[in-house]
Amino acid sequence: MSDIADRAESLVRHDDQGGFPAQQQEPPGLTSRMDPTPDHGEETYVGHGKLEGRRAFITGGDSGIGRAVAIAYAREGADVAIGYLPSEQSDAEDTAEWVENAGGTAVLVPGDLVERQTCMRAVADAVRGLGGLDILVNNAGYHWDRGPEGLEGLQPEHVERVMRTNLHAVLWLCQAALPHLAPGSSIINTTSIQAYDPSPALLDYAATKAALNNLTVNLAASLGPKGIRVNAVAPGPIWTPLQPATRDSKKIETFGADTPLGRAGQPGEVAPAYVFLASPADASYVSGTVLGVTGGGAVF
Ligand code: NAD
Ligand code: MG
Repeated sequence: MSDIADRAESLVRHDDQGGFPAQQQEPPGLTSRMDPTPDHGEETYVGHGKLEGRRAFITGGDSGIGRAVAIAYAREGADVAIGYLPSEQSDAEDTAEWVENAGGTAVLVPGDLVERQTCMRAVADAVRGLGGLDILVNNAGYHWDRGPEGLEGLQPEHVERVMRTNLHAVLWLCQAALPHLAPGSSIINTTSIQAYDPSPALLDYAATKAALNNLTVNLAASLGPKGIRVNAVAPGPIWTPLQPATRDSKKIETFGADTPLGRAGQPGEVAPAYVFLASPADASYVSGTVLGVTGGGAVF
C-alpha cells in the first residue's frame, strides 16, 4: 500500500462511529489522560523537505493540533519552538522528543499568554532558541463549555481567558514577531468552524475565532508588501485535550458525530494544512485565506 493510503487508513480507523468514551479533565488537559490517545501522525507523517531550514514558533505546540504541526514541521526539515502553559511540561517534553527524533532542534517556551509581557518574552525566547523566526503559528486557544448555554452561562473569568488567549495574545505575538520576519515568512492563525457555524454553548469563543478570520485577511493586506503571507486554518471537531478539559463529559460521547464525515478528526489530519500554508514553494501565492479542515462543515 502507498504511504498515502496507509496514512489515510491509520487516521480513520480509531473512531469512525463518531464520539469517544465519556471523560473529563481540568484545563488545560493532558494527552496522557485521554482515551483513546490522539493520533498526531507519529507513525504516519512522511516529510519531503518542504520546510528545510525554516524556524517555527508554535503556540500550544505541546499537544493536540500544535503537537501534530510540530511533528510534521520537524519531519519537513524545520526547527520548532513549542509554546505551552507551565502545567503542560510533560506534554511539551514529549513533543520536543518527537521533534528531535526527526532531526530538528526543539526549544521549550513555557508561559501563560494572557499577559502581553509574556507574549513579548515568549517570542524573544523562541527567536533566541531558534536563531531567528520564519513561521509563527498562533495556535494556543481556550474555551469553556461546562455551564448553561448562551448569555446567561457566560462567566467573567472564562470570558476573560477566552478573549485574552484567543485574540489579544495573537495581536501581541504578531507584533513581537514582525521585526524578525523576513520576506518569505508566514503567519498562520488557528480559527475554527465555530467562526462560520457558531454554537450557543461557545458564544464568546466563536466570536474570537470569527475575529481571527477578519484579522487574518487584514494582516495579509498589511504585511503582503513586506513579503509576509498570513493565513488561517479552521479545524472542525478534533480529538485533543481541549475537549475533555473544557466540555461536559456527555458531549464527548457524540463529539464530531454530527459532521458530514460522521466523526471527529485527529490532530494528524489537520497538520498537512499548516505544512501547505507554511511552505514557501507550495503556497507562495497563498495569503489572506482560511483553509477549512472540518470533516465537511462549510467554511464560507
Ligand atoms: P490543545 O488543548 O491540545 O491545545 C491548546 C493549547 O493552547 C494548549 O495545549 C495550551 O498549551 C495552549 N494554551 C491555552 N491557553 C493558553 C495560555 N493562556 N497561554 C499559553 N498557552 C495556552 O487543543 P487543540 O484543540 O489542539 O487546540 C489548538 C487550537 O485549535 C486552539 O486555538 C483551538 O481553539 C483550535 N481548535 C480546536 C478544535 C478542536 O475541536 N479541537 C476545533 C477548532 C479549533
Ligand atoms: Mg496542551
